Amino acid sequence: MNQKQHTVLITGASRGIGKATAQLFASKGYQVAVNYHQSAQEAHQLVEELSPLCPTLAIKADVSDRSQVDAMVKEVHNQLGPIDVLINNAGIAKQALFTDFTLEQWQRMFDVNVTGMFHCCQAVLPGMIHQKAGKIINLSSVWGITGASCEVPYSATKAAVIGMTKALAKELGPSGIQVNCVAPGVIDTDMNGMLDDNTIQCLKEETPLGTIGTPEDIAQTIFFLASDNAKFITGQVISPNGGFVI
Ligand code: NAP
Repeated sequence: MNQKQHTVLITGASRGIGKATAQLFASKGYQVAVNYHQSAQEAHQLVEELSPLCPTLAIKADVSDRSQVDAMVKEVHNQLGPIDVLINNAGIAKQALFTDFTLEQWQRMFDVNVTGMFHCCQAVLPGMIHQKAGKIINLSSVWGITGASCEVPYSATKAAVIGMTKALAKELGPSGIQVNCVAPGVIDTDMNGMLDDNTIQCLKEETPLGTIGTPEDIAQTIFFLASDNAKFITGQVISPNGGFVI
């Protein structure tokens, strides 16, 4: 790390990929803001674990709610200083036949997975533009690239994240801000908790590297994109997926 301690805001960091990402950034000397929505106990436990490593704080906000996002970003700024890295990780998924989805379920998926990113980007960008520097990393999914049966709304939101990433990267490059996307394959988190052992085994067999991914695998990719090693990379989609989708 440089002399200045950088600050990262990670949405949905109470569990899964977001949590592993918070742990990695803290171990690398970042100040870490841990956003959560419902898992208050997990978020506060994580902050307790990270606090010997770095200044950190847990902040409750539903990313789909603009006033909560604005308040969160203000609080991070007040407590930790300007936000250098935004990781738009919060997300929800649901499996069902397309014909069984309700309009409310479709809208909630877009509100969290897409509009949440809109709110977070708009809230942090004035600060990043002022600094003429910043990194935004958005979580998409392999399903946003290929589409998945029984996950039409989720696939549509994750495809939208890719379009948003590419367009924002073009718009913000001249301001010194990089925008990239990570599109994981199947990762061992609560999001896949509904998959039975047999399905997981089949997924492993369909994956050339013979395994599903860990949250730490994705955290490493995110960290790379936030690092100076990726200073010439913007508007890209990197898909750590074990060869599942090539
Ligand atoms: P997860 O274990 O289910 O955790 C989801 C996280 O998002 C939780 O911390 C949750 O917070 C947060 N969240 C949900 N709704 C929120 C809201 N309205 N406002 C703020 N936070 C909210 O999921 P994950 O597997 O780590 O997934 C993380 C990201 O990677 C998601 O965008 C997901 O789509 C993407 N992804 C996952 C996989 C996979 O196989 N797991 C594959 C590809 C892409 P609370 O618990 O505090 O409510």
